[in-house]
Amino acid sequence: MHKVVIVGRPNVGKSSLFNRLLGKRSAVVADVPGVTRDLKEGVVETEKGRFLLVDTGGLWSGDRWEKKIQEKVDQALEDAEVVLFAVDGRSELTQADYEVAEYLRKKGKPVILVATKVDDPKHEHYLGPLYALGFGDPIPTSSEHARGLEELLEAIWEKLPVRHIESEPEVAGIKLAIVGRPNAGKSSLLNAILGEERVIVSEEPGTTRDAIDVHFTFRGQPFVLVDTAGIRKRPESLVEELAIRRSLKAIEEADVVLLVIDPFQVGDRELKLANHALETGKPVLLVITKWDLVRKEEAPKVRRELKEKLAHLEHLPRVYTSAFTKQNLDKIFSEAVRLFELNHTRIPTAELNRWLSVWTAKVQLPNFKGKPLKIFYATQPEVAPPTFVFFVNHPEFVTRAFENYLKNRIGEDLGLKEVPFRLVFRGRRE
Ligand code: GDP
Repeated sequence: MHKVVIVGRPNVGKSSLFNRLLGKRSAVVADVPGVTRDLKEGVVETEKGRFLLVDTGGLWSGDRWEKKIQEKVDQALEDAEVVLFAVDGRSELTQADYEVAEYLRKKGKPVILVATKVDDPKHEHYLGPLYALGFGDPIPTSSEHARGLEELLEAIWEKLPVRHIESEPEVAGIKLAIVGRPNAGKSSLLNAILGEERVIVSEEPGTTRDAIDVHFTFRGQPFVLVDTAGIRKRPESLVEELAIRRSLKAIEEADVVLLVIDPFQVGDRELKLANHALETGKPVLLVITKWDLVRKEEAPKVRRELKEKLAHLEHLPRVYTSAFTKQNLDKIFSEAVRLFELNHTRIPTAELNRWLSVWTAKVQLPNFKGKPLKIFYATQPEVAPPTFVFFVNHPEFVTRAFENYLKNRIGEDLGLKEVPFRLVFRGRRE
């Protein structure tokens, strides 16, 4: 999901702005505990789509822009795509405003200067001095009178990077399947996830099956863990074959597959599960758990060995975590969202064909008995997984090597290498 963060010195009206923007559009507001205890987050729903809005207001202590606060804001800004720099539109700029401005300039993220508390259009002539901050035109807003919010949303959408994402996750949430060999650490990981305070859990027994889906929200994004009954039951109570069938079923139901891996137990089982997922069109996140067991000095070696054993899955993203220390638990979810979105990418036909002409200009097309393969055009009729259809003179002229070449180009140039996209070649008369 897109992320927009509000930054500004105390008392400029950040939290009113936050509440106003969420308004009725608000899906979820969560106080995020832990390191970022003082952050408020919520999902802003607009006609153009949704984004996660984060208010850093709670990070300040007093009026000073201290190093401690800065470090926390740094974290909040880490994957932010747009920063709303809030300043009081009715009073003079302060030292703290200038310090925040300087800090944001160094960060280099797109900034929108928001003048708050401009309740009356007559006050707008006070805005002149704000240009001194160096962030261009301020957008006057009033949270009290709900002024300027549409303009602000407009400006936010203008600055957010364009992603050709076909559909946002369903309201019910992104469906995740947790799979892996017995004792990989699935149920421990599940408990670690569900034990996190920030997760709001509700369990729904399936009506026609004994599968239990767990619904929860993480950073405003709803998720569903499918068939957790299969994970929670002690492995020995499940006949091995049934356990396998169950995980294959969970994979088929999921949007994204979390493949849980014990770094010291890697083999065919992992490759089989991953391949089943990829063949079914599901993106796979490699969740390497029990990382607390790996000593720091050993880590590079273990990573290298894992890389060799998982060579076939080299292109898949991975997260190193532990059910005990809970390191990187957040990252599992941010990566899951990213994979969901990637798998829902739709490349517009014009753009795809622009690329196609670049790709075909670089190589000699295969030919059969002196007759060359011709590619007329390409389209992407489907997402999840993205499916590319190439209209050609003779589909049987397409060689494995040429298909692999196209796969590599799509993976690299369209940024899809982490998801299981498909190619189809269709014959068309010349
Ligand atoms: P499952 O069969 O995949 O659900 O695996 P379990 O969650 O039951 O874990 C198998 C064993 O690994 C248990 O003895 C756990 O205590 C241990 N384990 C699981 N996760 C971790 C972890 O992150 N760190 C450590 N040190 N041990 C773990």
